[in-house]
Amino acid sequence: MFWSKIFIPTLKDSPQDAEVISHQLMLRAGMIRKVASGIYTWLPLGLMVLRNIENIVREEMNAAGAQEVLMPMVQPKELWEETNRWDKMGSELLRIKDRHDRDFCLGPTHEEVITDLIRNNVKSYKELPLNIYQIQTKFRDEIRPRYGVMRGREFLMKDSYSFNLNEGSLQDTYLIMRDTYKRILERIGLDYKIVKADSGAIGGEVSEEFHVLAENGEDTIAISDASEFAINTELLLQDGEDINSLEGQDSPDGHGKIIIKKGIEVGHIFQLGKVYSAAMQANVQSQEGRAVDLYMGCYGIGVSRLVAAAIEQNNDDKGIIWPESIAPYEVNIVGIGYTKEQKIADASNKLYTKLTSMGYKVIVDDRKDGYGVKMKDAELIGIPINIIIGNKFLENGEVELKHRNGDSSLTQISDLPTFFDHFKASS
Ligand code: ATP
Ligand code: MG
Repeated sequence: MFWSKIFIPTLKDSPQDAEVISHQLMLRAGMIRKVASGIYTWLPLGLMVLRNIENIVREEMNAAGAQEVLMPMVQPKELWEETNRWDKMGSELLRIKDRHDRDFCLGPTHEEVITDLIRNNVKSYKELPLNIYQIQTKFRDEIRPRYGVMRGREFLMKDSYSFNLNEGSLQDTYLIMRDTYKRILERIGLDYKIVKADSGAIGGEVSEEFHVLAENGEDTIAISDASEFAINTELLLQDGEDINSLEGQDSPDGHGKIIIKKGIEVGHIFQLGKVYSAAMQANVQSQEGRAVDLYMGCYGIGVSRLVAAAIEQNNDDKGIIWPESIAPYEVNIVGIGYTKEQKIADASNKLYTKLTSMGYKVIVDDRKDGYGVKMKDAELIGIPINIIIGNKFLENGEVELKHRNGDSSLTQISDLPTFFDHFKASS
């Protein structure tokens, strides 16, 4: 891709209404634009990152044996009445009417739709367990949309639902999903904690959240300094109590002391048990020929929130520092004098073709601007490796290899394919 052809409307200054760094940088890097409160358009660069995360999630879900479907965003009131959630969800549920005056809502989650699908189509224990997922736009009319796509009203979620014959089978699937979420966050390259959590409006008994640790996190979590123990402080504190009372206490698991951290909830896994299947009569025939209610689990991951969370954890005063696994481009070829010096343009284009054929995602900065503007933009949008082709190349064939993390070295342009061969092999 050529920089002059792609729509990346970068901004010099931070827009006033952006409070947290990820929101500021997503706007400045030309990744998103606001349409209405909590509702955004994803521009090309932002969409590339969103898709990269989506693909990691999809690959890991498929590897875990889950099957992808796509449910509708518009859902009929009748299904939500079966679980009483038409009333319980309150104003977060955006309700609409069709031309016949029938009630619908925009899906904030899909337990009702999936349970309806399974009760109508699965009859025997022999067809279980099932784990079904989708990657889809959700709508929640959040009371306080803020921090850009971190707490949007419209956002992209991967939600999956498992149907199991008994509690043991549910626990097996739950642990598979827990491992899958660990792999997803490790592949993205994030520092995270698995946290005991409150099940909230979704219901069920056992649930854990995955938190990306970051100062701007909306949740406060208590973690042990000596073990894996971590718990959302919502579960520990009564109304009005002060968080400070927890600090430095002995960890409830008997290992180490409690420290308090801020976290961004990027995933939430639940053992729902029979809450939905009992309410909606979702049962199958057991081996003994009896009708038994299904055990269910549900597992959500905030795909669009992960984009913001990754930026919260990976930035400096110059801009975003993408983990390679989700970077929109892995390599930026910065041609200094690209429009004036044919040799620079030719070398940039040739290198582009070579690295692209090796499987790298590459962009060429072919714009008229000088070194300053080009590197400022490159650092803002956070591409991991920049190759600067300029005067030194004209003199003696040397180019500068400048990593976004600060490392820089000079190398002969002819040595680059070998460097990138090794790079791919080692990452
Ligand atoms: P929160 O406590 O942050 O509102 P939740 O408990 O309501 O989250 P779930 O219903 O478990 O969230 O949804 C699964 C995942 O979807 C969350 O872990 C989060 O990553 C993401 N998510 C939830 N609400 C939003 C939102 N308003 N904007 C972006 N992502 C969201
Ligand atoms: Mg919520």
